[in-house]
Amino acid sequence: MEMVKLTPSVADNIWGGTRLIEEYGIKTDKNPAAEAWVLSCHPAGPSTVQNGKYEGKTLQEIYLEDQSICGKKGERFEFFPLLIKFIDAKQNLSIQVHPDDEYAMRVEGEYGKTEAWYILDCDPDAELILGFNREVSVEEFKEAAKSDAMMDICNKIKVKKGDLFFIESGTMHAICKGILLAEVQQNSNTTYRIYDYGRLGNDGKPRELHVDKAADVTKRCPPAISDASERKTEIFENATRAELTKCDLFTMYKLDVDGKYQAVADDESFVSLLCLDGEGKVTCGGTTLSFVKGESIFIPASSGEYTVEGKLEI
Ligand code: ZN
Repeated sequence: MEMVKLTPSVADNIWGGTRLIEEYGIKTDKNPAAEAWVLSCHPAGPSTVQNGKYEGKTLQEIYLEDQSICGKKGERFEFFPLLIKFIDAKQNLSIQVHPDDEYAMRVEGEYGKTEAWYILDCDPDAELILGFNREVSVEEFKEAAKSDAMMDICNKIKVKKGDLFFIESGTMHAICKGILLAEVQQNSNTTYRIYDYGRLGNDGKPRELHVDKAADVTKRCPPAISDASERKTEIFENATRAELTKCDLFTMYKLDVDGKYQAVADDESFVSLLCLDGEGKVTCGGTTLSFVKGESIFIPASSGEYTVEGKLEI
């Protein structure tokens, strides 16, 4: 399979804004554009190929034909392993949690969800919720979820552009208003909603909560927070590459290119490039694709050398 550019699926969740359309070039009829699933094999919102002999096919269709696109590290997975999104939170997302693989496979028939957020932009006073500000009992957790008492026990964190948050499954969390981020997560859509600030959904009714399942899977304690000063950064002639986070599911880098940068998609893993700013092009094999802010390029495992050229944040 050749390198491809992907068209995202867009979700119009009630809390979303329009910045992905206005600033990131995401094309959609949906309004708001809360989430753009820029690398997705999930049936709830598959990404579609824009170029070459697979044009018009979903990445999932290609994956079903040829699972080697994920490389050796992908062999242990029954489904395509990851899902990558842009999220524009104009309003607060519900306070929620995702189960781990064991619970999710048993109860929901899909993977659990560990995820990581890279903050692309945020309001000066923006904050998010991660875990609790102290240990709480399961009874206290369930009781607090019935009212805004939840806001007194959740752990609020101020955010700034460039921050990275690693959210292991079982960690209660919410992206709050005024945050635009890129997310790498397991290929799962299982979310247990714990508290929704008493809001009403599009149908005028409160959105469903899943407090009992959440209580099964939530770690009721303060979270572990990674330290940006520990980021490994490699300096190349025309590029800088900082390792944002690494786990047994994915490694996430911030790559700044000014000129020409070369790298390799080896037989271990695919490479997903997400353009956060700037413009340029990517060449791999006989294929060259233009690359601008908001676009997503998928390079299958074993594609070999690829070149990124231009002035780009990836
Ligand atoms: Zn989440």
